[in-house]
Amino acid sequence: MGDEAYALSMQYDDYFISSTEFVNDIKSEMRTSATVYAFNKKKKVGEQCQCAGPMCNKRFIKKSYQQAFCRTKCKDQFWNRIKFWKDEDKVQALCNHIDSINYGSDHDDN
Ligand SMILES: [Zn+2]
Repeated sequence: MGDEAYALSMQYDDYFISSTEFVNDIKSEMRTSATVYAFNKKKKVGEQCQCAGPMCNKRFIKKSYQQAFCRTKCKDQFWNRIKFWKDEDKVQALCNHIDSINYGSDHDDN
């Protein structure tokens, strides 16, 4: 698994829901982040923004025209996450991983 899949599976530990519900949750989180991102891009330098990074929401004062995140780490996480969800094989691997946590990786028929 890549770093993003690992980060997501760590986030998943707090959920205890099916992989389908988890995927829907993350996708709705990403829509929110994308909305915040677009909103921040329209703000002026010196205005207060809310970070568009996944799981961040920290407030910051916009210092440059392009800025949409409180720090580089949040920017990287945002774009890594978008890249990850475009890769169907990786998403499927993550879902399989989540299902194996839920149902056990050993298939015991007893
Ligand atoms: Zn942030």
